[in-house]
Amino acid sequence: MQHVKQLINGQFVDSNTSEWIDITDPATQEVIAKVPQTTDDEINQAVAAAQKAFQTWRKTPITTRARIFLRYQALIREHMDELAEILTAEQGKTIADARGDVFRGLEVVEHAAGIANLQIGDYVENVASGVDTYSVWQPLGVCAGITPFNFPAMIPLWMFPMAIATGNTFVLKPSEQDPMVTMRLIELAVEAGVPEGVLNVVHGGKATVDAICDHPDIKAVSFVGSTHVGKHVYERASQSGKRAQCMMGAKNHGVILPDANKEQTLNQLAGAAFGAAGQRCMALSVVVLVGAAGEWVDDIKAKAEGLVVSAGKDDKDLGPLISPAAKARVEHLIGTGVEEGASLLLDGRGIKVDGYEKGNFVGPTIFDNVTSDMQIYKEEIFGPVLCIMRAADLDEAIELLNANPNGNGTAIFTQSGAAAHKFQQDIMVGQIGINLPIPVPLPMFSFSGSRASKLGDLGPYGKQAVQFYTHTKTVTARWFDDEASRGKVNTTISM
Ligand code: NAD
Repeated sequence: MQHVKQLINGQFVDSNTSEWIDITDPATQEVIAKVPQTTDDEINQAVAAAQKAFQTWRKTPITTRARIFLRYQALIREHMDELAEILTAEQGKTIADARGDVFRGLEVVEHAAGIANLQIGDYVENVASGVDTYSVWQPLGVCAGITPFNFPAMIPLWMFPMAIATGNTFVLKPSEQDPMVTMRLIELAVEAGVPEGVLNVVHGGKATVDAICDHPDIKAVSFVGSTHVGKHVYERASQSGKRAQCMMGAKNHGVILPDANKEQTLNQLAGAAFGAAGQRCMALSVVVLVGAAGEWVDDIKAKAEGLVVSAGKDDKDLGPLISPAAKARVEHLIGTGVEEGASLLLDGRGIKVDGYEKGNFVGPTIFDNVTSDMQIYKEEIFGPVLCIMRAADLDEAIELLNANPNGNGTAIFTQSGAAAHKFQQDIMVGQIGINLPIPVPLPMFSFSGSRASKLGDLGPYGKQAVQFYTHTKTVTARWFDDEASRGKVNTTISM
């Protein structure tokens, strides 16, 4: 049985732990590897290695740091098929979607290769006579990342490339449910030239996360995952004086106006609601049909019925959920929706997939007549379940969305520029798609979830990540030439 290794001070090492967690193929329940609950001593070793490496890494020329990411992006491209295959085996998403997972992370690596253009400070000459002020963005020290199961390639790549490129060293804790593709990406980072101690990996669940939050030598923590864990991480890391950014759960609404391009809209909605079995933080899990678009319910159902569920490696439309517990939770919430009086138009419970009888499958599920007091509306289901709601007009739809506490993403489908513009201005959500269902920005921007979907001011990757992983030093300098050096004591604050 394969044991997932840790990376400590440049060495891929086995853990001394006695506690191992199974990694299973979600389509079959076959145990494919075991991942350790890293011991406290090993966590301390990883942080100490990162702390030591920081002393030289922070002074390593920025061009040297950037070139590592040029090599790294090439290696990821070369290994794309292998990475997608590993990801699908442990996570369950389709091969095509797994490639997308790797690719969206790869884009951040490409961006990190341009770090010398991103970490540029400011300079103002003659702020007073002969006095110049400049600011530099210096790395913080040891930073840490804690990642979720649903994007085991993209989300680790949101974090360590930008942290390391800006001159920090890093300790990563991948999801214990699917750490294998993350580890393959880490091996490639080492192959690309990340020096020993600059990048370290520890494993496990809550115990490791808490140790990271508490460790006095870690300066910043990036977290992506569920809301209740994210709040815990934000509070615990902040309590010990760390900078923290937590990207958390969601309930994303698609708003459909009757003038929308119908076929395009229905296709995009079905892809965004049910793709990756609904296990995306940007999945559209609620659709608000405005006015006459309320008549499109049967068409939405027909699109969902056309989707094929199978093991990810068969590369159909959607794969299994991550675990039997996730499946049980989603099925329970579907039952709750029925009890609460929502109309179950399509029931994905109990779906059987030939050849994968033990898989964690739930088929596309649709509820109509959902109201905002129902649990299926209030909770993030994180499964292939779409809730349909109605609004008389755009104002009512906007009011409904803004009353929901989450702020990760939303989309409007319309041919009206005026309606789209109003939506964009009035909606209190970080990421807005216009005729585009999952508007995750590319790394020249930053991921910009808001309200209950995010804690901390700065988002991952892009410009905001450069700010998150650095602190600003301002230097005010005056150089005297010999002529000017005869002066007198000045006790006022003027220069
Ligand atoms: P999760 O919160 O269960 O796990 C995330 C990380 O926290 C993992 O590394 C896990 O080991 C650790 N963890 C789990 N329980 C813990 C506990 N009690 N104490 C301390 N640490 C703990 O999340 P998940 O199920 O892996 O991922 C799905 C969630 O992530 C969804 O809510 C989804 O919306 C969210 N997500 C958000 C974004 C975003 O950008 N907003 C992106 C992807 C996923």
